[in-house]
This record gives sequence, structure tokens and C-alpha cells, in this order.
Amino acid sequence: MANKTNLLLIYTGGTIGMIQDTKTQSLVPFNFRNLTEQVPELSKFDIQLSSIAFEKPIDSSNMHPGIWIKLAEIIKKNYAKYDGFVILHGSDTMAFTASALSFMLYNLNKPVILTGSQLPIGIIRTDGKENLITAIEIAAAKKNGKSIVNEVSIYFEYQLFRGNRTHKYNSEHFDAFETANYPPLAEAGVHINYNQAALFKPTSKKLAVSTSLDYNIALLKIYPGITEQAVNALLGIKGLKAIIIETFGSGNAPTETWFIEALKKAIAKGIIVYNVTQCNGGSVIQGKYETSKSLQKIGVVSGFDITTEAAVCKLMYLLGKGYPLAKTKNLLSKNLRGEITA
Ligand code: ASP
Repeated sequence: MANKTNLLLIYTGGTIGMIQDTKTQSLVPFNFRNLTEQVPELSKFDIQLSSIAFEKPIDSSNMHPGIWIKLAEIIKKNYAKYDGFVILHGSDTMAFTASALSFMLYNLNKPVILTGSQLPIGIIRTDGKENLITAIEIAAAKKNGKSIVNEVSIYFEYQLFRGNRTHKYNSEHFDAFETANYPPLAEAGVHINYNQAALFKPTSKKLAVSTSLDYNIALLKIYPGITEQAVNALLGIKGLKAIIIETFGSGNAPTETWFIEALKKAIAKGIIVYNVTQCNGGSVIQGKYETSKSLQKIGVVSGFDITTEAAVCKLMYLLGKGYPLAKTKNLLSKNLRGEITA
């Protein structure tokens, strides 16, 4: 039918599409056709829904950059044909996938909304139905003929979040995600209230899709008592191009000489050291405390208020671009897709 909103559902797996294996009692992925059987409400929408299901749905703990590339390619191929995209995904790594896609898809002017659930859709108390139905409604929402949401986002438990700001902070509550450093993009109650000031404005620029990711990176969470061997084991990884150090508070780390010297040596070798806080909210401010002054001095790059999830994906994306080292470092501290408070 002419002018009917056209959405593409992409089913990757996750709890939302799981059933209990009668033999083992563990949750296993099921066929996507069962999802539409489970949510007959989908047929009541005045929206043209098409779907693509991964042949082998995965628990999102098996998510991999190769699958992000596959998702970006599906969106690229179908971009002109659809008004928006809803990706059904496990919640465990949803924040990573949303972050990765936010960097890979540039100049989006259509919604890409990820959703999932904490309880399988076949279970009476599932949160999956509401999540799916409202994610579809948001993906279809337009104002003056233009999509209201023009970015990669996550819809979960009555809230829409900027994808690259999200963090899964609870594995039991339906309310599993938060964006401590950014307000929700929309809240769904009786009405869906959009936070216009927080949303990206539509762009008239052409979509650019980047599908080259370099994952020669590592992540080091700092803790009291961290040993020289542990740090050097990571820094010694062959081919390592960047390491995220998840630091305390506003970007603080031990001041012990061996630690600073190890990082200094790595930086001299051309390895990027990216400082991201362990806290859910707040920002890295290198130089605020004595314990971050040396980091700043030796050339550690500040991630400001970026999440670890977004930091991982931003590094893979920028390294994949093959930019000169100085440019990569410079862009890491800049706001590219709303992931850092400018
Ligand atoms: N383990 C599941 C997954 O991430 C959990 C979920 O879907 O919420 O795929």
C-alpha cells in the first residue's frame, strides 16, 4: 500500500526469542516464525513489517565484530527500501552492538532501534512484547514526514536510549539499561514523549557505512593490587594497537613507577592508551588528582565520559579506518556520534 511505513525487523537471537529446552531445561534460541506467532499484535499495526532472521540465532554473548559488519551491511543494502530498522538482540552485549553500529553508520536519518527482553517472549510475564511493540512504534514515528529518531538507539522497559551511551547495569530487573551520562531520548507511558533536545536532528547528508573494524585492542580494568605481570601480559600482546585502561573515579590509577613506565613504553611503541572510567556516571578528568597527572603527562588519551562499551567500538572503528596515529588519538577524545559530552 502506498505511503505505508515500511520497517525491517532483524532477528539476531537473545532471550526474546528463546524457549526452554524440555530435556536440559536451559534456554535455547528458537525459530523466528515462533516470535510472530507469539506476538499476534504485530499484525494489527498499520505498518508494513518485513523481517530477516539469522539462520542461527545467537545468545548475544557470542556476538562478534564480524556480526556487526553483517548487520551494517544488511542496513546498507536495505536503507532506501525501509523507513526504519528494529534489531532483536540479546541484552548482554546489546550496548556493544548499538555502540558499534552508531560508529559504522554515519549520517543516519532513519531509526535503528535495538531491543530484546529479560524474559522469553513465550513466557506470560515477558517484557519482550512491550519492548518489541513500542520499539516498532518508535521506529515508525514521523513528524512532518520525517523520522523522529535518526540514530542508533536501544528501547528497553519504557525508555529509549542513545545506543552508544548505554550500559547494561542489571541482569534481573526489566529495567536493565541506563545512560548515566545522557538523558533518555524518549519515555513511553500513555504517550511516547520524545526528548527533542536530546535527539539527533535529521540530516540531508548521504548515509556512509564503514565496515572495516580492527580489533587488535585490549581492555585492562585497574584494581588495587594489580601486578606488573598482569599489566605487561596485556601490553605485550603481539600486534596490539590500543589498550583501554578502565580507571578509578575521574580517571585515576596507581602512581607506582613500574605502572607508569609500562604505559610510557607502550605509548612510545605507538600503542594507544585510552583512559575510561570504571564509574557508570561522570567523566575522566586527567590532571584533576595527582593520581592521573602522570597519565596525562605520558600521553594517555582521555575518553572523558565515554562508556567502556562505546570505547571498545570506537577504537575498533577508528583503527579500522587506518588513520595516522595522531589523528586517531585526536578523534578518540572528540565527540563523533554523541558518545562523549562535548
Ligand atoms: N544471554 C542473553 C543474550 O544476551 C540475555 C538476553 O537476551 O537478555 O543473548
